[in-house]
This record gives sequence, structure tokens and C-alpha cells, in this order.
Amino acid sequence: MQDTETPFLPYSRPDTGAEEIEAVARAIASGWVTTGPETAAFEREFAAYLGSDCHTLAVNSATAGLHLALEAVGVGPGDEVIVPTMTFTATAEIVRYLGADPVFADCDAVTLNIDPAAIEALVSPRTKAVVVVHYGGLACDMAPILSLAATHGLKVIEDAAHAFPTTYRGALVGTLESDATVFSFYANKTMTTGEGGLVATRNEDYVRRMRIMRLHGIDRDAFGRFQSRTPAWQYQVVAPGFKYNMTDVAAAMGRVQLRRIDAFAERRAQLADTYRDALADLPLILPAHAPGSDRHAWHIYAIRHCDGLDRPEWRDSFIEGLAADGIGTSVHYIPLHRQPFWRDRYSLNAEDFPRAEQAFASLVSLPLYTAMTDDDAARVIASVRRHVGG
Ligand SMILES: *Cc1c(COP(=O)(O)O)cnc(C)c1O
Repeated sequence: MQDTETPFLPYSRPDTGAEEIEAVARAIASGWVTTGPETAAFEREFAAYLGSDCHTLAVNSATAGLHLALEAVGVGPGDEVIVPTMTFTATAEIVRYLGADPVFADCDAVTLNIDPAAIEALVSPRTKAVVVVHYGGLACDMAPILSLAATHGLKVIEDAAHAFPTTYRGALVGTLESDATVFSFYANKTMTTGEGGLVATRNEDYVRRMRIMRLHGIDRDAFGRFQSRTPAWQYQVVAPGFKYNMTDVAAAMGRVQLRRIDAFAERRAQLADTYRDALADLPLILPAHAPGSDRHAWHIYAIRHCDGLDRPEWRDSFIEGLAADGIGTSVHYIPLHRQPFWRDRYSLNAEDFPRAEQAFASLVSLPLYTAMTDDDAARVIASVRRHVGG
């Protein structure tokens, strides 16, 4: 039974405090409120953090950013876009926004990232692009993916909703040789603006197109319109765009979170090490750490039971056991090939995704966030040990 003295430890909680509140208050008091100087500064500071010649475009969600990126690279009706099955539905839905069809790829058995060999096997004459997800915050093996994309003339978009700050072979995700990378600042991500996202790209044409499509297909954003000497009423609509701009209220919060991101990342890595050291002797498959000196962003700490496939009842009783101890958990993810819309619309069969099926059979995410104390982590460890079973 849950000790009534012990508060419930939620699966996730944002780490925001006085600094964020002050910044948001300042943004409101400034009179700008919507896209303005805070958003421009956030974009500049994020680009400086990435430390490359990338352009950055703040948007109101990663889903919006992914939509803009796929539109900019030219995905349209009749195209196919290869996506992982082991992801959130946003990764696939954006393909449908553009009238194209997602094609689902199985994952790697260890990392749960999209399997480059599965991508290669799914390439058809209709394939236009690949969207990869750095699952949990561990970078996909991008070298073979970028190389097969070059061979087949495919665009590569990185859904980096979990992956800030993640490195691959020493380079930050966001600065790799893909066409665009999209970060999420949703409430439970490694940094948050409440709702928000950001697209990074080196391609001048893509950034110009995304900047226009981000705000109604108008050729200048609101800030530029009111700052320059051109009369404010002069603007041109060049496409039926979207309403995807980030507000200054959100950006003000994002600027503070960005200043804290290295400390956040260090704390997440520390908690992941603590879990690894304390759970290594149990019959669990623990998440892979990043190879060499690369950085794992540790957005998700997903464990599996070693005999998951043979114990279909294990996960439910494990989750109930932790809940009874006052600990929240989650599952990342119910693979998309199991979701009714995707399964039925594309006649997907579980047998075609054996590694995602094997992982999903016992997949559970443990709480891992910077607002957790060492005592919270010790509680999680004790509860996992109590309920894991033989
Ligand atoms: C959270 C998430 C998204 C969507 O991010 P939003 O900012 O909420 O739109 C997309 N893909 C993955 C893998 C995610 O985890």
C-alpha cells in the first residue's frame, strides 16, 4: 500500500522556477506578447548553442516544425516517407498533412532507433524522404542513413524531440548533414516552453520557405513588418501558409531553459547512471548508453524485461506495483503499427515489426527528470527491485 505520508512521484514534471516566471512576466509587460524580440533572441541563442552555421526557426510545436520541414523539402501527394514504427504518432501524421503516405520501419533491437537496413528495404520509386527519431535521446546511427539517403536521392529530416542536447560522433544533433532537425519544447521534454519547437537547417531555400509558411504564407514575419521602414500594411501572401509562430511569452521561458540546459543534461545523465548501477543485476534490459564520449539526452529511460515476450502479463503488474508505491510510469511507445488508424489504413501486420513487437511486450519508462531528487531515484529503484519479479 502507498504510504500516505509519501507524495506521489509523477512520471514527469517540468523544471521551472522564479527565473522562468520573471522572464515570462517581462515578456508580458513589454507589450509584445506574440512573436517579437524574445523569439528573435531565442532563435539567435539556440543557433549559438548549436554553434554552427545553422539557421533556427522557432515554432509553436515540434509537430508544426516537422510539417514545415517536410513541406519545405517538397513532400507532397503521392510521395512516400519512411518513418519509424517506434515513435509518437506526430512523426507519421505530418506525412499525411501533406497528402503523402508514411511507410513504417522496424527498430534496432538494442537502441530502439530506426534500423537503417529496414529503411533500405522499404525504399521505392515513390520514396521522397526519411524521418528519423533519436529514441529517448540516443542518436540514430546517422552515417549509414545519410549515405543510403544520398544513394537513393532521399531527404532526411530528424525528429529530435527527445534529443537536446544529444551528440553523434562528437557533433550536436541539429548540426548533422540532414536536411532539417526539429526539437520539441513540450512540457515533458528536456527543456520546455509549455508548447513549442524549433527547426534547425543549413539550407537557405528551406529556411526561407519555412519562414514564410510559418506565418500564413506571408513574405515577412510580424516583427520585421513592424520594425522596418516599409509601411506595416505592405505584405504579400505567396502561399496558403500555416499559423505556427512561437510567442514571445514562450520564447522568454525558452531562453531561461536554454541557459540551464547543460546543468539539466548533466543531472539527467547522473540519474541514468544511478539507475544503471542500481538495476544492472536484475532480469531487465536497460537502455543503451551513448557510445564513446557521445552525449545521450536521456529524455526517456525505458526498461524491458529479459523474458518480455514470454510474459505478456508482466508489464501490467509491474506498472501497478510501482503505482501502488506512488510512482508514475509511462510506455514509449505503443508502436504505430498497432494504432488503429495506421494499422487499418496501411494494412500493417505485427509480424513485419518483430523487434518493435519484442521490445513493446515489456517496455516501461521510469521517471527521469531534473526536478527529481536522489531520494526520489532511490524510491524508484527500491520499487523496481520489489516488483520486477524473477
Ligand atoms: C513530443 C514528440 C513530438 C511532438 O512534439 P510537440 O512539440 O508536442 O509537437 C514529435 N515526435 C516525438 C518523437 C515526440 O516525442
